[in-house]
Amino acid sequence: MAIRPIVITGNPVLHTRAQEVTVFDEELRTLVADMYDTMDKAPGVGLAAPQIGVPLRIFVYDYADDNGNERRGVLINPELTISEVSDEPADEDTEVEGCLSVPGERFPLKRAEFATVTGVDLDQKPVRIEAEGWFARIFQHEFDHLNGTLYVDRLAEPWKTIAAEVVEDNGWGIDGKSWLPGRDNLEG
Ligand code: ZN
Repeated sequence: MAIRPIVITGNPVLHTRAQEVTVFDEELRTLVADMYDTMDKAPGVGLAAPQIGVPLRIFVYDYADDNGNERRGVLINPELTISEVSDEPADEDTEVEGCLSVPGERFPLKRAEFATVTGVDLDQKPVRIEAEGWFARIFQHEFDHLNGTLYVDRLAEPWKTIAAEVVEDNGWGIDGKSWLPGRDNLEG
């Protein structure tokens, strides 16, 4: 197991649809183990394979609910269904999102309150999770990664413009930028 570098916005792998997993072997288990290690070290509540430069439809998550129950797992080849997204502006205190591939930044974004994710685990066993609130937000964020969409792509103004300026000011938005959890002091 190993912590892998997290690629930063601008790397084409983050802006391209990832491919279905077709081979369930030891290499896949190692990849997922590395994804958990990298997510935990970052630290983050979710990590998608494209974020470590692997263009496959996989994400891991680790979320503690209001009762302190930890929800942790992997989704392979997931499908997502969501409730309607409100037209109201995102709350600047309670609906603020971040991403390990836009490290250290956070912006308000409206998401659906409810999400259902289905897929399989490493043993190809079916997984189905119904989520609401922050847990649902995590699934929407990670599923977006598998389709080449970052949360900053979804922002409303003025956040969209501000985020674009931040990306430029950091020298991101080009291929080849990454950071290594545990070595580089960045948080997503
Ligand atoms: Zn992200």
